[in-house]
Amino acid sequence: MNERYSRQQLFAPIGEEGQKKIREKHVVLIGAGALGTGNAEALVRAGIGKLTIIDRDYVEWSNLQRQQLYSEVDAKERLPKAIAAKRRLERINSEVKIDAIVGEADAEQLESLAVEQRPDLLIDATDNFDARMIINDVAYKYGIPWIYGACVGSYGLSYAFIPGRTPCLYCLLETVPQGGLTCDTAGIISPAVQMVVSYQVAEALKVLVEDWAALRGKLVSFDLWTNEYAAIRIDAVKRDDCPTCGHRPSYPFLSYEHQTKTAVLCGRDSVQIRPSSRRQYDVNELASFFRRQGLRAEANPYLVSVSLGAKRLVVFADGRALVHGTKDVNEAKTIYYRYLG
Ligand SMILES: [Zn+2]
Repeated sequence: MNERYSRQQLFAPIGEEGQKKIREKHVVLIGAGALGTGNAEALVRAGIGKLTIIDRDYVEWSNLQRQQLYSEVDAKERLPKAIAAKRRLERINSEVKIDAIVGEADAEQLESLAVEQRPDLLIDATDNFDARMIINDVAYKYGIPWIYGACVGSYGLSYAFIPGRTPCLYCLLETVPQGGLTCDTAGIISPAVQMVVSYQVAEALKVLVEDWAALRGKLVSFDLWTNEYAAIRIDAVKRDDCPTCGHRPSYPFLSYEHQTKTAVLCGRDSVQIRPSSRRQYDVNELASFFRRQGLRAEANPYLVSVSLGAKRLVVFADGRALVHGTKDVNEAKTIYYRYLG
């Protein structure tokens, strides 16, 4: 018996057989914030074969209270979360192959992953509605289970969506509390994160060892501060005319019209801008370009950060940018195109 996984193998529903299955599986994690780092650490310690992490952001001081893989050094260096997470996870378990993608989990990205790599499981650790609807469409189009998780304040919820067995998120739109779907600027406490992570990882392990009968099958929600808990069976909400899991699916969120090019970031005074065509910058050249204009620019291998008075422009190597210090999309675009038009 492999010493590292001995306690997990002694757990009868997993056993040696289950551990072998876990070892062969590839999980794609969408988002490396609070839920993402919790899921990643648990799955990497459990000994999955491969983990792909997709995240568009970099580490900031306000993350350290609950995003368990990051340290002060990561925040100081403004390291992209996918990179910082990969480095830390490789120190935790060098047997797991870890792919880090610094970028948007858009339809193009997720679909190409689904087609080329056939992952066994998708885990939602995002903070926004669009990303979840894209995950939902990709999961049902390619028959890949996905595990939804959300938390805000002391509240959280989770559900395991299994194509062919359960309704999809689209079917549930009228049932799921909107607070769990959309971006919320309220604060958050770490036990709410850990609780959702526990629900997600437990269902993930069941999927990975293919113990379908053990799946919870209920949408679970809780509030750790007001001490409320609910588990609702939702099979009945499945819609035959659902555009994602119905008889004639069209997967609406994979089409171009649904791709947002700009987005106000969750809970932050920031706007994200994606150029209409992908480009590749040399971040050092980009930093010199800003410095020639008398601006203060700092670069690491993945991004350039430029001070613009009360605002800050951060440009990633693929041309995607964050404008901090505003929630006004037009103002952010003006700043972006003044320098990168
Ligand atoms: Zn559906």
